[in-house]
Amino acid sequence: MRALVYNGPRDVSIQDRPDPKIEKPTDVIVRITTTNICGSDLHMYEGRTSVERGKVFGHENLGEVIEVGAAVERVRKGDRVCLPFNISCGCCENCERGYTAACLRANPGSVGAAYGYAEMGPYDGGQAEYLRVPYADFNCLALPEDAAEKENDYVMLSDIFPTGYHATELAGVQPGESVVIYGAGPVGLMAAYSAMIRGAYQVIVVDTQKDRLALAEQIGAIAVDDTEQRGVEQVLELTKGKGADRGCECVGYQCFNCKGHEVPNLTMNNLVKTVKATGSIGCVGVFMPQDPGGADELAKKGQIAFDFGEFWNKGLQLGTGQASVKKYNRHLMNLIHAGKATPSFLISHELPLEQAPEGYRNFDARKDGWTKVVLKPGR
Ligand code: NAD
Ligand code: ZN
Repeated sequence: MRALVYNGPRDVSIQDRPDPKIEKPTDVIVRITTTNICGSDLHMYEGRTSVERGKVFGHENLGEVIEVGAAVERVRKGDRVCLPFNISCGCCENCERGYTAACLRANPGSVGAAYGYAEMGPYDGGQAEYLRVPYADFNCLALPEDAAEKENDYVMLSDIFPTGYHATELAGVQPGESVVIYGAGPVGLMAAYSAMIRGAYQVIVVDTQKDRLALAEQIGAIAVDDTEQRGVEQVLELTKGKGADRGCECVGYQCFNCKGHEVPNLTMNNLVKTVKATGSIGCVGVFMPQDPGGADELAKKGQIAFDFGEFWNKGLQLGTGQASVKKYNRHLMNLIHAGKATPSFLISHELPLEQAPEGYRNFDARKDGWTKVVLKPGR
């Protein structure tokens, strides 16, 4: 099969790889029809993770089941399924409580597994023609009859729609509240969309990328352009000096200031400044325990200078971590099916798999107009 392979920093290519096979009776094989490039892939692409050369990337996957292991009971050949980026067993202590992002069995010796990702187990990704899906009965979300027609919406259930929703869940967004979101990438936009679904009356999105801010406005959010680093001031003006009720971090450790310098504590401290006293913050942007390529000595050790005094003084709360996609994907699927959510509004480029390296280059450069790339293997 053809697959997108990591060769080293900013170097990926499409290569021939052996087709995946059923390895355990609980596996299925999926023929991938849509697979996305994610902002999380860029951390690996830029050489800012420990990912090994030769890894097939791709954790936002949707396709058709073509082969079913002997112990699979629920999923059938021909089903169209969306796969959560988390690989989880369904029956460990954490999965049982719904924390599938922290499965204790899928990545032995560690917590949490994913397709095609650094430190997330030996699994190849789905930016390829075929994908092996472990614990298939638990992991496959079978899609309704409009699966093909709404494929570009349903594929967002693999990661960024549930992740954006998770940011608002961690922040505890309630109807009639105001929410400030840092980052208007796909995750930030999905957090804004989710905040509206949850009934926020005011959703403010901060970024420097005009094309992405325009999308935020298109869905009814207030866009704040931080190009001149006046974002905090503007959010405070919009919230009568008090700050928003809730805040979401949707950028992560590679956030930068107006001069383009990486300042890993910037968004977290901006949230402390712009969320009101007693409010809460959901942080889904990725922060790493070690970052050898980090901007300063603290960053290299996975630390940031966090305004903990102000955070404490305001009585703020903070939730963090990977989204447990299975907690949300079925309900968000129902919204798409009923025509009440269309997360495909994010997509700027639909490319055949062979053009994935071009997709990486432009999405990584945050080139104007490249907001979300979906790949179509087999086209
Ligand atoms: P992205 O890189 O496309 O978007 C990030 C956006 O943040 C960009 O538009 C950038 O201009 C903006 N930004 C940079 N510095 C900023 C600042 N100081 N203030 C405001 N905005 C700033 O990535 P994405 O796909 O939207 O993902 C965002 C983050 O979420 C990444 O760290 C990604 O790894 C993470 N993520 C987490 C999970 C999870 O389960 N927790 C899942 C998917 C992605
Ligand atoms: Zn992703």
